[in-house]
Amino acid sequence: MTSTNWAGNLSYSASDLLEPGSVDELREMVAATPRIRALGSRHSFNRIADTTAVQVSTAGIPLDIEIDETDRTVTVGSGATYGEFARQLDRAGWALHNLASLPHISVAGAIAPGTHGSGDRNGCLSTEVAAIEMVTADGGILTLRRGDPDFDGAVVSLGTLGIVARVTLDIEPTFEVQQDVVENLSWHALTSNLDAIAASAYSVSAFTHWGDDGATQVWLKRRSDGPPPTGDFFGASPAELQRHPLPGVPAGNTTTQLGVPGPWWDRLPHFKLGFTPSNGEELQSEYLVPRRHGVEAIEAVRALAPLIRPHLFVSELRTIAADNLWLSPSYGEDCLGIHFTWKLHVPEVEALLPVIDHALSRFSARPHWGKVFDTDPARIGELYPRLVEFRELADRLDPGGKFRNGFVDRWVFGA
Ligand SMILES: Cc1cc2nc3c(=O)[nH]c(=O)nc-3n(C[C@H](O)[C@H](O)[C@H](O)COP(=O)(O)OP(=O)(O)OC[C@H]3O[C@@H](n4cnc5c(N)ncnc54)[C@H](O)[C@@H]3O)c2cc1C
Repeated sequence: MTSTNWAGNLSYSASDLLEPGSVDELREMVAATPRIRALGSRHSFNRIADTTAVQVSTAGIPLDIEIDETDRTVTVGSGATYGEFARQLDRAGWALHNLASLPHISVAGAIAPGTHGSGDRNGCLSTEVAAIEMVTADGGILTLRRGDPDFDGAVVSLGTLGIVARVTLDIEPTFEVQQDVVENLSWHALTSNLDAIAASAYSVSAFTHWGDDGATQVWLKRRSDGPPPTGDFFGASPAELQRHPLPGVPAGNTTTQLGVPGPWWDRLPHFKLGFTPSNGEELQSEYLVPRRHGVEAIEAVRALAPLIRPHLFVSELRTIAADNLWLSPSYGEDCLGIHFTWKLHVPEVEALLPVIDHALSRFSARPHWGKVFDTDPARIGELYPRLVEFRELADRLDPGGKFRNGFVDRWVFGA
């Protein structure tokens, strides 16, 4: 069996891909398979979802959307993409608190590594998980709810504790968002006002190419029920046309800008739900840096601009609120995410990663688990104070290591 991830930068090594059509079928398959690894919508850029054994996708498990208006939750099949149920949720009068830049990723695949959007008060997408229903190594079902002792260790699991079958997410009354883009924010304005800029809208993304022109675009997503925009934006100018983060690329696939209000699911991502890119031709890396080091970290990356720019499409700066999920890159710290969308220059990017990692290591930067990175595995324990407890949880729930793969053996178990 040969299949690749979305970006096409790697072929999975799995011997087979199982596609159960129900939770019961998933349980039988897990019980009967000695080593198995969950595969989501294949949007990760590294081998986090790979295995030399068997992969299993939960995309065929029916969505069976259940909205609980009293508890303010929605429960869905774990293989659902956000795009598949967001409209239905909205029609019923409800919303999720945030989304990633692309709505085409699966819920289980997003929560397993701590995928995030942006916003000072918005935790990563894993923080909206209220419960998970997971198939364990013996084919049993384990349901963990927020507040249960193992819950904070089990949500950001990197796919290592079991195969998540259904997920319950917090919801809130639906809301509209209006998106505006401002252009040409100078480095001086950005670094002198980082906190004010990050707090200026519900979700803020600053795009840069690390050139002298600073942040070429800042995308401001404001809730219509939130505070109105202020006048001048630190010397940046409002865009007069719809924009794509990359200069010269047509903006038809980007979510509506120019302040036109629309539903949360059609404004919080950067790219439209109706646009389904089947593959990528790009690589991505991201480092989550504690907010208190944000400006210094930006300056450290700027110093590497001559090395970075030849291989970069664009970088994005976002903020993520702290959480309590043990392996979440935003565990215990409000963070600034410094993201890189690279050209598919694989050897050059691989050579650059240790340089960027070294430059950001003094700020305790945690790499995004689903993107390319080259952090020394020995440092993961320093970056994640609950790592030992996570290993104990994994040993307890999966003593035979049925769900482990080379990625977690290296980065999580230090094997
Ligand atoms: C164009 C693009 C834009 C992106 N934008 C963002 C962004 O805005 N913010 C951000 O943080 N990331 C972003 N990413 C990264 C991406 O969201 C993450 O890598 C995410 O994990 C991908 O989810 P997936 O469904 O494709 O999972 P996969 O990549 O297939 O798997 C990821 C992990 O989830 C586990 N998993 C999947 N299903 C299950 C299950 N049922 N049970 C247990 N574990 C499971 C896998 O084992 C693996 O460990 C982007 C990626 C792309 C390609």
